[in-house]
Amino acid sequence: MAVFRKNIWLIFYILFAGAFIFLCIASYFKWHSVHKEYSASQTNLVKLVSNATHALFLSQEMTLNILGHQILKDNDSHVMDRLLVLNPSIIAFGFVDTDGNYQTVSSNFNKVKLPNLRELEASKDSFEYTMTQKKMVLGRSYFVAASGRWGIPIRKSIYDKDGTLAGVMTAGLAIEGAFKIFTENLSIGDYNKVMLIRDRDQYLQYESSSHETPKELYQTPLPHNFMDNILTTISQKYGIPFNEIKQKPIIYELNVANEVGKLVKATLKYNPRYELWILSEVDHDKIISDFKGIFFGYIFVFIFIHIILFFLFRMIAKAEEKRRKDLVFQATHDVLTNLPNRNYLQQNIQDWIYTGAPPFSLCYLDMDHFKNVNDSFGHEFGDILLVELTKRITSLVDRNSIVIRQGGDEFIILSNHTDNKKLLSYAQIMLDEISKPYHIKEFDFVIGVSIGIAKYPENGNTLDMLLRAADIAMYEAKKHRNSVRLFADTMQAGYLNRMSVEHELRKALDKNEFHMVYQPQIDNNGNIYGVEALVRWKNEKLGIIPPDIFIPIAEASGFMPQLGYFIMNRTLSEMRTLQLELGISFQISLNISIKQFIEVNFLERLIQETDHLDLSHISLCLEITESLFIEDIEYILPLLEKIRAMGFSISMDDFGTGYSSLSMLKKLPIDELKIDKSFIDTILHDINSEKMVQNIITIGKNLDLAILAEGVETKEQEKLLKEFGCDCFQGYLYAKPLEYDVLKDFFRVKN
Ligand code: C2E
Ligand code: CA
Ligand code: CA
Repeated sequence: MAVFRKNIWLIFYILFAGAFIFLCIASYFKWHSVHKEYSASQTNLVKLVSNATHALFLSQEMTLNILGHQILKDNDSHVMDRLLVLNPSIIAFGFVDTDGNYQTVSSNFNKVKLPNLRELEASKDSFEYTMTQKKMVLGRSYFVAASGRWGIPIRKSIYDKDGTLAGVMTAGLAIEGAFKIFTENLSIGDYNKVMLIRDRDQYLQYESSSHETPKELYQTPLPHNFMDNILTTISQKYGIPFNEIKQKPIIYELNVANEVGKLVKATLKYNPRYELWILSEVDHDKIISDFKGIFFGYIFVFIFIHIILFFLFRMIAKAEEKRRKDLVFQATHDVLTNLPNRNYLQQNIQDWIYTGAPPFSLCYLDMDHFKNVNDSFGHEFGDILLVELTKRITSLVDRNSIVIRQGGDEFIILSNHTDNKKLLSYAQIMLDEISKPYHIKEFDFVIGVSIGIAKYPENGNTLDMLLRAADIAMYEAKKHRNSVRLFADTMQAGYLNRMSVEHELRKALDKNEFHMVYQPQIDNNGNIYGVEALVRWKNEKLGIIPPDIFIPIAEASGFMPQLGYFIMNRTLSEMRTLQLELGISFQISLNISIKQFIEVNFLERLIQETDHLDLSHISLCLEITESLFIEDIEYILPLLEKIRAMGFSISMDDFGTGYSSLSMLKKLPIDELKIDKSFIDTILHDINSEKMVQNIITIGKNLDLAILAEGVETKEQEKLLKEFGCDCFQGYLYAKPLEYDVLKDFFRVKN
């Protein structure tokens, strides 16, 4: 899930990066296209201006030529006046001799007042240049005070028939008039100006811009590095040698610093006839600002889209996060009680266990005989009980503790309490609360619970170690109903021992480490009427282990049924052999573990074993304990009936120690009562024991049951028991449990 969450943002980042790259590319192309647009309009403009000026000057040149020759012929100024009328863009005409003096002028000017063109500083250079040229030459633009207009002097040398220079035809071309046709649309805007620059001296001939033209503009040449700079750049950019630049009919384009040092995009073309540069400049700033406008538009759209996308993705990510959290919750919580489960504990234990973590306690809570509740009342009922139990537990823990449902009827409480006294009283409160009666579906009943407590870090510094320690403590607690135990290292030894016993047990059958011993049972007259089979285990590592130790372990580890069938098989075959050999018959008592008894196919196995050995004539007695009746009684009772119907008898072992009351005996399908050894041990000194034994015998007799006293060690005990009416005896007074051969001898002697 986290992967998905990362992925969704990854998609976002990829989109973002993709869009960003696209933005860069689009901006790059836009930049070029803006440039191109300007370049196209500039080129057109330069072309237009170049053609128009050329045509204009050419026509004026023709006029000057014709007029010059006319003047030379008849020296009549009238023809000038007439032409002035026809050509309003001309301010005045004049014919100047080679010395620079006006010979003839149009009548709107006074010849006498006019300067000598060879002497006048402003005209000297261009006049002399005119005399060296056959073509028309332009002079410096000047302000004609008389007409209040700006004019361009145009001059052409006139030759007589012999080819000698006769003079110079000159005229003033009114800038406004001559350029009117295109002044209005010459410049594209504020940021643009078109200039005609004289190549020879770099004077500005004409400048068209939307600004008003300052008077001085035409009176000083442009900074002389301006054109040099342009030519150098052209030469570099176009790879043309310096001297060829002016010979090519190319419209050059370049970025340069203009005459006032501002970066411009310059587009220019050279007119070789009139030695003019037609130059259009566009402020670079303008191009940039045009581009910026579009670029910021792009950026805006980009940001806008991504803000929307961001929120969209965040929404999806949040929804996904919620779904993930729900899933995690489901995986880490129990559906029935809504408590965190085992997975939760595994995943979150690092909140409790880390270097420098404060101490805490882990309580392991396990209901006693919950299985019976489920079996007897159904699972639905069990569920209700669990929910009810959960409520009680959670109502008692504080905010810093967590309650976890570890499994079926097992709960774990992690809490900050670590003081032994406090923990025990806390657990006791919990026990008291839990063992209050429950009222579910008209039933009132109580349940017991056992609590084992382990502490971090002293009992373990991993979850597994703590769980095991708490489990060991709980195992101790289970030995006494409804109680609590704190883990102690001494328990660990017992646990480890149990572990090794369990380990060795599994191999013991194969290694043939078990054998049977038999303890004779004596009747009133001192005759042997039966034997109780008792199992013995001698292990190569652990030595002789008493059945009191290994039988409960075999039961707890699920090994009991297997061992039980071995005991049954071995006992029956040995006793059959013995009986056949000695030609006698006696009862054989077999201890049947509850775990074996409730095995589904117990009865079939029993039939199988007895049939197989052809034991029809042997009487068999099964010893069961009261704890059997904790199990599903509906199942147990019919089973006992069936066993009796097969001709086997049932003996109630260790009677008096368990829960079943004497009044219950009536309902149970049994044949014999075995009074527990603990009563016999104390019968001579403890009046309660004596009373108890007396009662058992009286009631048992009433119910027609055989009464057997076990653990009889003295004659005194036997005497008293006989007085009370006991008729069967077993104990060291008569014989210890005997090995097969010893038993054989024992029978031989007795008979
Ligand atoms: P239990 O069934 O009550 O067996 C009687 C126990 O009392 C036997 O101990 C026996 O040796 C002992 N005993 C008999 N007479 C005297 C006496 O006069 N004085 C003293 N001090 N003890 C006497 P054992 O053989 O150690 O068995 C202990 C328990 O282990 C048995 O108690 C029984 O619950 C279980 N057990 C033993 N063998 C088997 C078996 O083959 N199958 C099953 N399921 N349980 C067995
Ligand atoms: Ca027994
Ligand atoms: Ca017993």
